[in-house]
Amino acid sequence: MSMSKKPAAHKPAGATCTPPTRPPWETYPVTPGLDARSFQVPPEGMSLEQYGRALDSLKKYLKVQQSRFLGYQVNQNLDYARDLASLLDIHVNNVGDAFGSGNLTVNTKFLERPVLDYYASLWNAKWPHDPSDGESYWGYILSMGSTEGNLYALWNAREYLSGKFLIEDDGIGESPQRGLRPRRLLYVQGKAPSENPNAFTPVAFYSEDTHYSLVKDSMVLGLSTFYEMGTTRYPDMNPLAPGKPWPHEVPSQGGGAGPGSIDINALVTLVEFFASKGHPVICCFNLGSTFKGAYDDVEMAGKALMPIFEKHGLHERAIHWDPRNPKKHHLRKGYWIHVDGALGASYMPFIEMAFNRGLIAQRGPAFDFRLPFVSSMVTSGHKWIGAPWPCGIFITKTKYQMRPPDNPAYIGSPDTTFAGSRNGLSAAILWSHIARTSHEQQMRKALLTEEMAAYAVTRLRDLQKKLGEDLWVERSPLALTIRFKKANPDIVFKYSLSGEALYVNGELRAYNHLFAMESTTRDLIDELITDLSKPGAFPAQDPHRETQSKTAARHDVHRLVHYPTHARGFH
Ligand SMILES: *Cc1c(COP(=O)(O)O)cnc(C)c1O
Repeated sequence: MSMSKKPAAHKPAGATCTPPTRPPWETYPVTPGLDARSFQVPPEGMSLEQYGRALDSLKKYLKVQQSRFLGYQVNQNLDYARDLASLLDIHVNNVGDAFGSGNLTVNTKFLERPVLDYYASLWNAKWPHDPSDGESYWGYILSMGSTEGNLYALWNAREYLSGKFLIEDDGIGESPQRGLRPRRLLYVQGKAPSENPNAFTPVAFYSEDTHYSLVKDSMVLGLSTFYEMGTTRYPDMNPLAPGKPWPHEVPSQGGGAGPGSIDINALVTLVEFFASKGHPVICCFNLGSTFKGAYDDVEMAGKALMPIFEKHGLHERAIHWDPRNPKKHHLRKGYWIHVDGALGASYMPFIEMAFNRGLIAQRGPAFDFRLPFVSSMVTSGHKWIGAPWPCGIFITKTKYQMRPPDNPAYIGSPDTTFAGSRNGLSAAILWSHIARTSHEQQMRKALLTEEMAAYAVTRLRDLQKKLGEDLWVERSPLALTIRFKKANPDIVFKYSLSGEALYVNGELRAYNHLFAMESTTRDLIDELITDLSKPGAFPAQDPHRETQSKTAARHDVHRLVHYPTHARGFH
């Protein structure tokens, strides 16, 4: 019997759970076309009727939104249910290293490895993976998308460059029954040379068009960006503009008005500054930046950076880690170059293929393991290929691998990945796709999306002419995305259009963009154009001018990173 006069609604006998302080459906964001109340779950669950109705409206909502999805670099052309739906009733877990077997046998690592091989081959890495061959690739299928791959790359880079070692514990001073004890590993810190206190303090560089996951990942890892290091240690020494504040990120060519690829001269100047102070260097490049779809010229940037690395002894360094044996050392690079190819790394190889066959007039910059300075690469599985959930591929070289100190025997394979449990269905999805799609088909698909992007530009420019209004229509070279003046909220919702604010010639402009993916049709672009032709499609924007900070860098605040809150695909 309840003591209170008014027991909380639906509270089952004996349960201790809080009632809501107010109706949640009046508190949370409203989704047009859905009634949040019909999804709220009481402690006794839903009746079959309620559940059925909720399922119907869930499916209807997603089908409608999927059918006019234009705003993100996600392929909605999925075709897995026929072959793989039955897997949804099996828990498939690829916990541990993709190349270890492990005791959790309900896994799809036998599919994961061919998928990794496929990408290693596409990106010109040495394959198959061979633990005794440092030049061969190593990698795994990510449980998250490229966000996890970027995190893993930065983590790997930080450990590698800050002189960490995973070594076999020789068990000095312990019981002599070595043969009976499990093999143990020790994570140790190497010894920085006394003449260079910065030798193990890496500094990260990425452009202002870089995805916010890299900002977040740097923060998670406590990694210093050049912005933090510059403002705190060298406040008045910004080499790009002496006496002026440090830029938050490496400038992109032409800033907000430009194509979105990294300004290599600015990067080289910034890197040179920190390399000359003895810091190892982490550079992250974009292959298909999130908003403008821009390709950083990884080859040109790497070639410009190599002489700096050589000049400052970063092309190869001997790292000592055993105080009892000062001659023992490991040769490592003092730099790490990561390619964030969330979208681009999945299809630019096919554009190159088309270019080599004379089927397209242009190709993108070289970016893969043919460039000896590339340390790691990532791509998302749900973007170009298309998958029902986020997933992705991370690839590095075996010689750069850092294993965390754990070696959980109960799993039976080394715990080299970021996540413990890993989604085994992702491997099945990606494998199913590549098994059914030849390189030739991928190339055709890449050419079709390029054509679709060109079609969208033509239609938007025609509309611009018709309306007699500058719609700021822009497409970076070979990008699958087109940016234009921000549309009204109804249109933004209808087509799931992502937004970004850019300074163009000192004026802040709100943009949307659309992506031409395999699932994008001419009909859908035509429908968008029809909606954009209507009065009120482009709300007036408050003119807002960029204010240049006239004061030099402030010394009172310890600035970590510039955290983007309104851009790069957040909304
Ligand atoms: C989408 C994207 C990411 C993040 O990938 P997720 O798969 O969403 O985690 C990272 N970098 C770039 C350039 C992207 O476009």
